[in-house]
Order: sequence, then C-alpha cells, then structure tokens
Amino acid sequence: MSRSRIMSMRIVLAGALLFVLATSIASGDPYAEGPKESGWKPDNGLHVYCWGNDFDGDAIRNGVDYAFNNLEDETSMTKNKIPDCQSTTDVIWHTSNDNSIDGSYICQNFAGASRCEQAVARINPANMGSQDDRKQTACHETGHSVGLTHAADDCLSGNSSEQHYSSHHEGHINNDR
Ligand SMILES: [Zn+2]
Repeated sequence: MSRSRIMSMRIVLAGALLFVLATSIASGDPYAEGPKESGWKPDNGLHVYCWGNDFDGDAIRNGVDYAFNNLEDETSMTKNKIPDCQSTTDVIWHTSNDNSIDGSYICQNFAGASRCEQAVARINPANMGSQDDRKQTACHETGHSVGLTHAADDCLSGNSSEQHYSSHHEGHINNDR
C-alpha cells in the first residue's frame, strides 16, 4: 500500500472518529426531549407540588420539601406547595410499592409539544434506607419534572451522596426552559 493511500485512510478514519465524537457529545446532552418518564420542560417558572393521598410520613415529605427548596436555591425556578392537589398541579407526589425502583416520574398532561402541565412523581419508601436516599430520590424525580434526564454528576445519577444539580443542569433549567 502506498504511503499516500495510508495517509488518506488516516484522514478518513480521523474524520469518522470526529463524527462519532460529535454525535456522542450531542446525544449525551439531552434536555427536555422526553420520553414522558423524564425530561419534559415545566409549563412555567412556578413549580407547584402537593401530597397525593398516600404520601404520608414526615421523613419522606421532608425529602421532597428539601428537593423543592434546593430547586429554588439553585435555579431561577420558584416553588409553591399547596394543601389540595389540583388537576394543573405540576407535581403530585405518591408512594410506589414497586421494589424494582427507588422512584419514578411521568408526565400525565402536556401543555404544548414539549411542556408538562401535570406530572406524578413516586418514591418507594421501602427502598429508602436513609434521609440521604430520600433527598437524592426527590432531587432526581424533581429534576425530571423540570426537563432533566439522567447524568452521572449530580442527583440525576443514582448516587445518594448527590443531592444537588450540576451547574450544567442549572444552565438548562435557567436558560432553556
Ligand atoms: Zn430517573
């Protein structure tokens, strides 16, 4: 094989590698692309939540209160907790008894193409071994409710020591919502 042919193959390979890198960076940064289990934009900057009829107990409620306080502290979103759930309440919290999950989020009513009017978030109390678990899980599901999908470096991972949003995720919430 001639040297110039080897060089041109190298250029093709380098180009292919760049393409793979570019597409993996693009697909590694999804925001508000769904599916309905994660990552829909909130309908507006006021994020309202309430307790579903089975969401009992101070420990689990404190975990969710922590997560909404944290959302308000770390982003431009503001929060409000209301005593009686309405059909337009942004996040209604319920428990789950599915032992294969710590928590879940699903948008039930949409407001336009990519915005969520009303969602249900769940936490499985049986899988919460500590208040750190509750705070991380509440931060995680609350993150889904403002458009975030899974990431390794904040509470959108499954690590209970991560109870905050990364500056990258805060940027999406503040600038792209
Ligand atoms: Zn998740």
